[in-house]
Amino acid sequence: MSQSKVRVRFAPSPTGPLHIGGVRTALYNYLFAKKYGGTFLLRIEDTDQKRFVEGAEEYIIESLKWLNILPTEGVGLGGDLGPYRQSERKDIYPKYTQQLLDAGHAYYAFDTPEELTAKRLEAEAEKQVFKYSSASRMEMKNALSLGDAEAKKLIDSGTPWVIRLKIPADEQVVFQDQVRGEVTYSTNELDDKVLMKTDGLPTYHMANIVDDHLMEISHVIRGEEWLPSTPTHVLLYRYLGWEETMPEFFHLPLILKPTGKGKMSKRDGAKLGIPVFPIDYVVNGILDAPGFREKGFLPQAVINFLVLLGWNPGTDQEVFSLEDLATIFDPKRINKSGARYDFDKAKWFNQQYIMMANDDELAAMARPVFEAQGYHPEDHLLKNICRLLKERVTSIAEFWDQGYYFFEDVTEFDNEKIVRKKWKPVSRGLLEDLMTRIDGLEDYNAEAIENTVKAYMEETGIGFGDVLPFLRLGVSGTMKGPPVFEIMELIGKQTVSHRMKAGFDKFDAIKSQQNQ
Ligand code: GLU
Repeated sequence: MSQSKVRVRFAPSPTGPLHIGGVRTALYNYLFAKKYGGTFLLRIEDTDQKRFVEGAEEYIIESLKWLNILPTEGVGLGGDLGPYRQSERKDIYPKYTQQLLDAGHAYYAFDTPEELTAKRLEAEAEKQVFKYSSASRMEMKNALSLGDAEAKKLIDSGTPWVIRLKIPADEQVVFQDQVRGEVTYSTNELDDKVLMKTDGLPTYHMANIVDDHLMEISHVIRGEEWLPSTPTHVLLYRYLGWEETMPEFFHLPLILKPTGKGKMSKRDGAKLGIPVFPIDYVVNGILDAPGFREKGFLPQAVINFLVLLGWNPGTDQEVFSLEDLATIFDPKRINKSGARYDFDKAKWFNQQYIMMANDDELAAMARPVFEAQGYHPEDHLLKNICRLLKERVTSIAEFWDQGYYFFEDVTEFDNEKIVRKKWKPVSRGLLEDLMTRIDGLEDYNAEAIENTVKAYMEETGIGFGDVLPFLRLGVSGTMKGPPVFEIMELIGKQTVSHRMKAGFDKFDAIKSQQNQ
């Protein structure tokens, strides 16, 4: 791989939120550029005005920013080979369609949408698929069937036209795909794609090839769904005289549903309640598609999860930072077969990254979660909550689920069985006595509380099992939380004391229900 001139691009169409498959494409391009010391640029392919969605471009950029894989050239970033938004490059393309027309590789066509629909329906009735191609073009309304003079007349009189690529019959188009090896298509499988539309804008195929050429793209890394378009692209490079510098192609495998069958779609995500988009996508104030960010994922975890959907490092290592990946990412290890979207794995990665994150970072991420519940904790408290809970959560959102008791009284216990078993007639007296001592502590901290409890146990001969479950349940409602003395310190003397009093009544009540 040449080290000096690597230039890759992410070229999304702003037609809606960026699916996780698109994010993976951006990631692989980013890593490829990093690995080979090249440039990664962002081009917005917005020539299809009908599918254009306001705000989609901003969404794409915000997503890439959040994930830390923003290109260094392109839309919003500058560069010498812009503009990078295709709608701003309108004037560039006609020269090249003209070149194709002049060389006889393209032609004007005048079929109306109605005529084309009629052809399609006709074919469907015979269980065929209509294709505008070498086999059918002479029956259609175009410069080849009508002759140049007639075509000129139609153009001059203002008849709407498109320009189509003239794909020859009976040829083989052979190209190397860096993921799947040599790929061959017969031109008979291809159709005479529209290159320039009635509105004077190029289609994806035309604009994409012209721009990849003018932007000096060396490698095209994109999803497998573009593989069938590639023979057409190869012909375009050939007919424009650019085959020598044609980029190398990498077509990335599909991302499959968790069952392993079929492509993972937005609908599957909604059905399974799992995100397939990087960040929330909101339309007119309504959440259209939930994102990983708002579900409490760290960007590093999403990157780590995604990089392994379609690539393998060749070792057992699973956890990689973006920096690690930039050196070890080997495009030869991109897989051919589809990758199953295993959301549990995403959660596992998130857990790993939460455990590795420092408490300041976590507190900053968790703050909105607590604020959404109406609490505005001091930094010190929030940091400590994160420190205590980070081994136990799989997402930032769970800091609330697992730590609500730092702010709100306990309403239920997650283990009443232990109360029924261990709460004895003498328990209340003993624990009240213990609480009086704890309440009397001047320096109310975890160590002092622990020492008081231990001293009391020694004095009275009771065991941990007679004390700790009740402190835990009374203070936090759960037997599964972090060390109870630390929780007590953070919650503070007054609240603890008040909760324990309420707790004693509840323990009594549970016990008396049992005895009835
Ligand atoms: N605009 C295309 C897309 O939305 C780009 C495909 C390509 O990378 O060539 O994915």
